[in-house]
Amino acid sequence: MKHSPARDQPACPVCGMESDVSMMPCKLNGSEYFFCSEQCRERFSDHPTLFSAYKKFAQAPLYKQRFLRLKMPLSAQQQADISQLPNDMMGIQRVDLAGQQLSIEYDLLQATLAQIEARLRAMKIPLAEGWRERIKSAWRHEREETELDNLSARKAPCCNQSPRGR
Ligand SMILES: [Zn+2]
Repeated sequence: MKHSPARDQPACPVCGMESDVSMMPCKLNGSEYFFCSEQCRERFSDHPTLFSAYKKFAQAPLYKQRFLRLKMPLSAQQQADISQLPNDMMGIQRVDLAGQQLSIEYDLLQATLAQIEARLRAMKIPLAEGWRERIKSAWRHEREETELDNLSARKAPCCNQSPRGR
């Protein structure tokens, strides 16, 4: 039979939006989890118990605001790209540009600074990368992972990824 009976699209366990059932699910403790995006899949894989066991966090965002320094002023095109970030990524609340400083507000449960920085680099946004920025960035990434770890009762590997697949 070609058509399987229609079934409700399961909600993405990270952001609560409709999941994309064509994406590979995560299997955890006998349950299958479907996601709306690779970003949410990655969040779940890093901290599965946070989202599988602790659903109440879905209603309690962990808002963060970070300031990122830019190497040079952005072009008009780059500024337009940046303003689209809240539509491009899950969990991004707000992006403001003041000179060469970028202010980003996001929900740590849905997006980490590491993911945001990776997306900005993919968009060719010239982030400052001196040793001070590198140290600060590494420290912030570590702090975010620790904060999420502390929220999880325990960690379990998922999707054949190490819990800290970076
Ligand atoms: Zn999602």
